[in-house]
Amino acid sequence: MIESKNCVVCGRTIEWRKKWERNWDDVRYCGEKCRRNRRTDVDHELQAAIVELLSARARTSTICPSEAARAVDRDGWRGLMPQARNAARRLVDADQVVITQGGKVVDPSTAKGPIRIARASGWNAT
Ligand SMILES: [Zn+2]
Repeated sequence: MIESKNCVVCGRTIEWRKKWERNWDDVRYCGEKCRRNRRTDVDHELQAAIVELLSARARTSTICPSEAARAVDRDGWRGLMPQARNAARRLVDADQVVITQGGKVVDPSTAKGPIRIARASGWNAT
């Protein structure tokens, strides 16, 4: 049984495939799109913004990815939304946050529609 892993760009689950039999350890991206969109400074800033915003709130409160996008770029935040969601998924992979919809934790790889982000420690304690 080979464990699945998460894409270093979008944070989605990468399912093991036969074609990766020999180089699974080197697989880092879920696909070509993510390989081309390697992480930039903005991606790191978004990830830091999520952590910072959450740490400034009550332990169990949630934030919207748009708040992190706004914190990084006040005017161009809308264009950063896909990257903000990627940053949130990477933080889920790092066990730092959980992604919720309707007050329930959801799988970040498959969640569609608006999401909220909560601190993993605060959420699991409730
Ligand atoms: Zn990916």
